[in-house]
Amino acid sequence: MTYIGRFAPSPTGPLHFGSLLAALASFLDARAHEGEWLLRIEDLDPPREQPDVKEQFPLLLESYGLYWDGELSFQSERLELYAPVLQELLEAHHAYPCSCSRKEILSRCDNLVYDQHCLMHPPAQDDNVAIRINSNGTLISFRDIIQGPHAYNLSSTGDFVVFRRDGFYSYQLAVTIDDYLQGITHIVRGSDLLDETAKQIHLQQLLGYPTPAYAHIPVAANAEGQKLSKQTFAPALETTDPIPVLFKALQFLDQEPPRELLYASRDELLEWAIANWDIRKIKPTLSKPLLNES
Ligand code: GLU
Ligand code: ZN
Repeated sequence: MTYIGRFAPSPTGPLHFGSLLAALASFLDARAHEGEWLLRIEDLDPPREQPDVKEQFPLLLESYGLYWDGELSFQSERLELYAPVLQELLEAHHAYPCSCSRKEILSRCDNLVYDQHCLMHPPAQDDNVAIRINSNGTLISFRDIIQGPHAYNLSSTGDFVVFRRDGFYSYQLAVTIDDYLQGITHIVRGSDLLDETAKQIHLQQLLGYPTPAYAHIPVAANAEGQKLSKQTFAPALETTDPIPVLFKALQFLDQEPPRELLYASRDELLEWAIANWDIRKIKPTLSKPLLNES
């Protein structure tokens, strides 16, 4: 069986323990399948990007022993691949331009669910328009390897944006195209992206792309129950002492590492983790607190 997995961080802040969980789980699942594991930096949103962060990602992953296959890729260098796909979606009337400002949407639409105003009344100008997918009524269901069966009605979240009014491609479009072009067969990532999966599957179906297998791991929460993230001030990972951090990540992923591994080398620890990786041990929960288990 061919297996190609990936880790796809966005440089909106330094990597923290939550990012390491996604990196490690996707790495171990790929290696346990004797598959490839790619690293793709999703630097699509320059206004939200933090300086110097994306240069640190590869160095940090190397310090944890998480070596990727092939060339490191940057979405900012792949924009010309996205343009023809956007055109294809527009020409097939799967997508339409929208000139509504956030303020207009806030005042008109309940819970920001877009009311398809611009589908009924196409904007006159074509600069400063967003492009939205006409997802009206589409039902998407899939079985997540960890979280089990999920079903979504895309009308409940509304027509999503694939190209932004400020001139940038959206995460949804770029991630779908790149996962396809890079031949990704398995996507292992945090459960904060579970709800985004239905939109990505919808795009795959519109474009005739195969749907990869999905596994959404629980996200780590702090003592207040908030997801570890830049917004909740999750501390940046250090490069100096990877073993206890990797050990804690394996515990969080329900892999039950034996305590002796704390005294092994980093590569011995990773070898154990690959040989003993069992994704079925991960409990199907969306989030759980990060305790000091060790
Ligand atoms: N770049 C996205 C993020 O950091 C994740 C993309 C993905 O794994 O699908 O949140
Ligand atoms: Zn509109």
